[in-house]
Amino acid sequence: MSAAVRPGVDSLVAAAAAGRRLLLLFDFDGTLSPTVPRPEQARLPTATRQILEELAAAGCQLGVLSGRSLSDLRGRVDLPGVWLAGSGGLELWIEGSPGRKPQRAAEMTTMAAWARDVACEIDRLPGAWLEQKPFGLTIHHRGASPETVAAVRKLAAGLQARTADVRVAVCTLGVEVTPCPEVHKGTAVAEFIAAVGEGSLGLFYAGNEANDAEAMAEVSQRGGWVVGVGEAAPPSHDRVSSPTDLGELLASLASALGRLRRRRGPSDSLR
Ligand SMILES: [Mg+2]
Repeated sequence: MSAAVRPGVDSLVAAAAAGRRLLLLFDFDGTLSPTVPRPEQARLPTATRQILEELAAAGCQLGVLSGRSLSDLRGRVDLPGVWLAGSGGLELWIEGSPGRKPQRAAEMTTMAAWARDVACEIDRLPGAWLEQKPFGLTIHHRGASPETVAAVRKLAAGLQARTADVRVAVCTLGVEVTPCPEVHKGTAVAEFIAAVGEGSLGLFYAGNEANDAEAMAEVSQRGGWVVGVGEAAPPSHDRVSSPTDLGELLASLASALGRLRRRRGPSDSLR
């Protein structure tokens, strides 16, 4: 683990030692899971899964937030007790119960109509493809030429210019479009915090993309520690270069919490 992130790890351990519950939040693709050529190939690495299990066993509340649909994300994370936010914060899974889902039919209709309008144009762009999700859509362009990326972003800008009723997030691997522009990963973070209990928390968020910016800002404003993964990550307190490096950071945190727990005795759960 890089020495640069040691103070952040120490701050979380100090929070736990002071009796504060740790709420550790992560983006999935490119943060916990390495970037792969096709989104359906993304997996939670076994080593990272084991570390997350250790952190949960130490009493940390974990949450994973993604642009993927909730059902897709559940299939990939599949860890008991982990809270989830799918569709960029539109679908929540807290304490094993699905939370609210978007009810704004007009926005869904706007988005679907636009997708129909641009489907043919996207088909003509080599390396780009449209994914329709339950509460949004993504135009993927991972691995495509700069010309394709530029064309996809131009299409998305056209949509955003046409309506303020949808949210367009321009990311390095594609463009995400969701209804309910006021709902995002940042609002999901706020709901997770409210569900744990606002009073006494140690907060952490790791993300790698523009669509993590609101979540990072929310955690930072509440005094939490924000780590960016890779070069495209929004402004953050610290940066690691890859999901593997983030795994090392989390392993270091899990070890430190384990030592703290052993010092306190076997019944302590760090809550
Ligand atoms: Mg990501």
